[in-house]
Amino acid sequence: MEALRQPIVCVLGHVDHGKTSILDSIRGTSLMKKESGGITQRIGATEISIQRIIEISGGKISSKMFKIPGLLFVDTPGHVAFANMRTRGGALADIAILVIDINDGIMPQTVESINILRKFKTPFIIVANKIDTLAYFIKPENTSFSEFLKEQRQEYIDELDNKLYAIINQLYQHNLTADRFDRITDFTKNVSIVPSSAKYSIGILEILMTISGLAQRFLTPSIALINNLAKANVLEIRREESLGMTLDSILYQGKLKTGMAVYVNTSEGPKETKIKALFTNVSSKSTKVTERSVVNSASGVRIAISDKLDVIPGTTLIEAKGDIDSIIKELQEESQVKIDLDEHGITLKADTLGSLEAVAFELGTRGIKIRSTQIGEISKRDLIDVSTLPDQMDRILAGFNVDLSTDAKNNLMNYDVAVVASKVIYSLIEEIEKWLKNKKEEMDEESKQGMPIPSKLVIMPEYIFRAAKPIIVGVKILSGRIKVGDNMIRDDGKYAGTIKSIRDGEVSKRFAEAGQEVAVAIDGVTLNRQISADQPIYVDITEDVVKKLKERSLDEKTMETLEEIIKIKRKENIFWGTRV
Ligand code: GDP
Repeated sequence: MEALRQPIVCVLGHVDHGKTSILDSIRGTSLMKKESGGITQRIGATEISIQRIIEISGGKISSKMFKIPGLLFVDTPGHVAFANMRTRGGALADIAILVIDINDGIMPQTVESINILRKFKTPFIIVANKIDTLAYFIKPENTSFSEFLKEQRQEYIDELDNKLYAIINQLYQHNLTADRFDRITDFTKNVSIVPSSAKYSIGILEILMTISGLAQRFLTPSIALINNLAKANVLEIRREESLGMTLDSILYQGKLKTGMAVYVNTSEGPKETKIKALFTNVSSKSTKVTERSVVNSASGVRIAISDKLDVIPGTTLIEAKGDIDSIIKELQEESQVKIDLDEHGITLKADTLGSLEAVAFELGTRGIKIRSTQIGEISKRDLIDVSTLPDQMDRILAGFNVDLSTDAKNNLMNYDVAVVASKVIYSLIEEIEKWLKNKKEEMDEESKQGMPIPSKLVIMPEYIFRAAKPIIVGVKILSGRIKVGDNMIRDDGKYAGTIKSIRDGEVSKRFAEAGQEVAVAIDGVTLNRQISADQPIYVDITEDVVKKLKERSLDEKTMETLEEIIKIKRKENIFWGTRV
């Protein structure tokens, strides 16, 4: 049996559902009561040895059940962080915990997390957190979930089951079959739910055991300890006074040594550099950073490099050994954005490659098209580019986790472009959807206003106020809609004046609809010469409008009027309205 490394675990879930608290609880003192040791705070991650888990279980599990040396929890929770930590095979995390507040159930970021976990094919367990908030809760002596349950009243147990069933139902609607971990027989078909309280550390043991079991069962090939080529995922780049460039990373394959030549991904492509120094933390009691000459996978590690390079977070650091060309190729491939672009759509900017893809993925599920994507802050150049796009529906810039440059901020008012920005994917998408909807309505209204609508009206002989320059008369709109600016024709196709203004009592209007009686000023003709009260007149339309109108749903009477107008036009030209 080949050796395995620690599986890397990431915690995901909706905001405030308890991701940070679960991580704290896992690292927490309650687990360390008996003795310290077995839990090691690394840079960017926390390591828990399998011995430690066995110890906390109080004899429930034995070392024979596990081949993994322990678990490595990534300290940064959230699905965006998860999407940002990549390896060639997909996500850096081998396994995930999806935290759901037992009262809130599935929320937008829970769905986003499920989508991302599916996309990366990452196995996960669900933690139903905050079970201490349910009615009839009795604060326990023992914090393992099964022991805790024994101390609770039947009312509490029923309440817990009701809440769990509600969540199981919601998950089912997202095509996930899940059940309480201790009721599952087939782990290949069901997702385990571990009820927990991060506040009282209830269920933490079961979380650790379920993850270890899942890792043991499903991950063996992917977590085999491969020692030939060191690979680490760079989480964060720091510039330290004394050390220069340091990369907080998670080493997931092989071993790193000081002096080793490595390749990193920079904004200018893959670059070679040397490891100057390596650091890890020792214990959770000490925040002291310890220098090491060798670090084994999997581990959190701070890597000081000898060159000042603009390393991209979320990318891989690879030991420079063997086939250098293929290392360079691997790094080049990982920095390419894999997003389907359309000719039309929004312009998207984000802070990292991973978040760009995560947002693009969510936009895709909502049917929102993307025209262009870029990493980095929103610049004045972006404002210029997007505001000059010919299609008004494309004039929107969406920023995820990015700011506007000062130049862009100062010039925002000068450009016809909508800028929406957020640090939360679903809020960003809501804002984009709102803007697209409003813009569409606005444009529909504009095109309605601009386009003549077939309409027929008659002059009411009892309301003639002026006969010329302009004619002012009361009219009844028989069908469709007239508007200021419409040219009118008679039933023989001759010009019948232009509508200069419309009034309904005191109120000046831009439109009048079928059924309304309004006063209008008609210019360009004289009453009882070109037009008269005994002849209906029509709104003149052009041939290109006919085609557009036929695509729209007009009411029956307006359609009839359109047919009448077409007939009038065809007296002059038998092909009128057939060519466009
Ligand atoms: P995150 O945004 O998912 O990381 O959530 P946090 O861990 O920051 O928790 C959000 C809030 O819920 C905080 O006020 C926590 O104290 C509270 N909280 C987290 N876990 C529990 C729990 O098990 N029980 C109770 N009662 N409150 C909790």
